[in-house]
Amino acid sequence: RRYRKTVIAGNWKMNMTASETKKFAEEMKKVMPRAKWCDTLICVPACNLQAATRAFKDLRIAVGAENVYYEAKGAYTGEISAEMLKDLSIKYAIVGHSERREYFGETDEIVNKKALAALEAGITPIVCVGESLAQREMGVTNEWIALQVKAALAGVPAEKMRRVIVAYEPIWAIGTGKTATSEQAGEVCTLIRATIRSLYGARVARSVTIQYGGSMNPTNAQELLAQPDIDGGLIGGASLKPEQFVAIINAAN
Ligand code: PEP
Repeated sequence: RRYRKTVIAGNWKMNMTASETKKFAEEMKKVMPRAKWCDTLICVPACNLQAATRAFKDLRIAVGAENVYYEAKGAYTGEISAEMLKDLSIKYAIVGHSERREYFGETDEIVNKKALAALEAGITPIVCVGESLAQREMGVTNEWIALQVKAALAGVPAEKMRRVIVAYEPIWAIGTGKTATSEQAGEVCTLIRATIRSLYGARVARSVTIQYGGSMNPTNAQELLAQPDIDGGLIGGASLKPEQFVAIINAAN
C-alpha cells in the first residue's frame, strides 16, 4: 500500500444541480473527518465543475469530470476537451464508464484516445473496466478485463502510468445493490495489476491505484478495501449522501 495512494472517488452521474451541490457541501462540512489518509474526489456533471470546485474547496475534496473528449478543439458540438478541464484546474476525469460504453457507444479505442488526451493535459484518467453478468457466467472475465486494460492503456508511456487510476467495475454490480464479494473483486484487481506488470514491469505496477466500484457502501467498504490490490473505490449511489460517503472515507482511513 505504501507504494500507492488510496483514492475514494464519487461519481455523481447525471445527478445534483449546482444549488444541490452547494447544499451537499454544507452537509459534508458537518460530518467530514479532520484527517484523511486517502485522496478524496467527486466527479460531477460538466456544467457544475466550477460550482463544485468552489463548494468543496474547504473540504479538501477534489473535483473530477465524468467524461472528456479526445480532440483538442474544433467542430465537436457539445464536447469538452482535456485542455478545457485543465484550465479549470480539474485533476481527474472518468474515462470509459460502462454507462458511456453502453449508452454512448464508447469503444475501447475511444476510451484509449480519451485516456491519452487526459494524460497529455496532466489529468488523471480514472479508466473503468468491467465485465457483464453474461461474461462472468461464461467464465471469460479475466480475458475480457485484461483486454480492456491493455486496450485502454495502449501507447501510454511508463512515466505517465503513475498518474493512471484503473477502476474495476463489474457491470452487474453497478447501481444494482449487488456487490462483488470482496474475494471476487480482489481477484480481478490482482489480475489488473498483473496485466499492468506484464506491460510496464513490477515497479510501475505497484504504483498504480486500482479502485473497486459497484454498489460500494458503508457496510461493505471496509472489507473490499482490505483486499491487497483494492486501493480505493469509485462510488455512485452512496456518494450522493454525505453520511454514506463519509462513512466510506472513514473505512479507508
Ligand atoms: C459507478 O457508477 O461508478 C458506481 C459504482 O455506481 P454504484 O456505486 O451506484 O453502483
